[in-house]
Amino acid sequence: MDTKNSALATRCIHAGEMQDANGSPHTPIYTTTTFKFDSTADLLDVVEGRKPGSLYTRYGLNPTIRALEDKLASLEGAEAAWAFCSGMAAEVALFLTHGRKGIICIGEAYGGSMELLASQLPELGIPTYFVLANELKGLNTYLEQGAGLVFFETPTNPTMEVLDIAAISNTAHEYGALVAVDNTFASPVNQNPLELGADFVVHSATKYLGGHSDLTAGALMGSTHLLATVWPWRKNLGTTISPEIASQLMRSIRSLVVRVERQNATAKTVAEAMLKHPMVAGVRYPGLPGFSGHGVAKAQMKGFGGMLTLEIKGNYEDAVRVVDRLKLFAIAPSLGGVESLATMPVTTTHHGLSPVERAMHGITDSMIRLSIGLEDAADLIADLEQALG
Ligand code: PLP
Repeated sequence: MDTKNSALATRCIHAGEMQDANGSPHTPIYTTTTFKFDSTADLLDVVEGRKPGSLYTRYGLNPTIRALEDKLASLEGAEAAWAFCSGMAAEVALFLTHGRKGIICIGEAYGGSMELLASQLPELGIPTYFVLANELKGLNTYLEQGAGLVFFETPTNPTMEVLDIAAISNTAHEYGALVAVDNTFASPVNQNPLELGADFVVHSATKYLGGHSDLTAGALMGSTHLLATVWPWRKNLGTTISPEIASQLMRSIRSLVVRVERQNATAKTVAEAMLKHPMVAGVRYPGLPGFSGHGVAKAQMKGFGGMLTLEIKGNYEDAVRVVDRLKLFAIAPSLGGVESLATMPVTTTHHGLSPVERAMHGITDSMIRLSIGLEDAADLIADLEQALG
């Protein structure tokens, strides 16, 4: 079905879906690893790219995976998308393909992305540079040195810093560099970086796209031209999504808009309630008018997301006591699922850093990061209040 002019909620359900001969309303799961041809000439047409077709599942040339990729591309208004077995697999393929001249990472990023950029890619001879979100001057310096890819998350994890996608993309493009945004925290419902000038969007589909904390997957969206060179890396790294997970992910994406809109509304209600709590020193949420990133967030986001970070009054032990008393929020890493989760960055994402490094990154001992699920807002606030009490 042509859904190009349809709204996102419609595209989430209908984009990419293939009709089968039995009238299944959704794309079936093709678990086969290979596909047969009527003749060698037909096989060569697919192998040599003259005709689209199914060939071998690790290549991604599988009907279920292709259907998912059409849906993923549609979510971000992209020409093309590749689906991976994890968010990290998507990042690795992107960095190895388009990051070889050097990668600049702006602001905070997920711990795994940071480890990859700070330790592993430099071991392969790929230069990486780090710029603090509030010191964007450094960006020009590294672009002048020839770095070819700028990578960042917005909002960032866990400080919820908001980076200006259009402004950073303009600067990077002036130097001929490409821009990749990890849009995991915002989700395609709240933010579409390609519309704002970015060249790639990366998702840990494990989070909002999957939405139920029951699958691991990743996605890379962009132009057909830029994604073409990523394809052989995914193929030979062997990090293509499986048809079973592709189907499960398509199932989840069908309800993405209702889930995220509800999470946006609940997070805002929780953030406002926490702002008034005497035990809370600060609430980091892009939807709060008093938050430093609110202006840029209002300009580039359609909703403010389901993630927020509390700074409680007290020290590390006090924050641990609060988290340990929570009953409805589970103490768990990850985010974007239907169940609400709470973590302290010092015990998870930023555990390995020294106190000085943490301070540099704006991470405090009393920070509690919340991923808001689909529970009732009043129940979540009551849980936080009893834990803070
Ligand atoms: N990007 C962000 C913002 C994340 O939070 C994560 C995982 O937590 C990743 C990327 C990596 O995704 P995955 O765990 O699916 O490999």
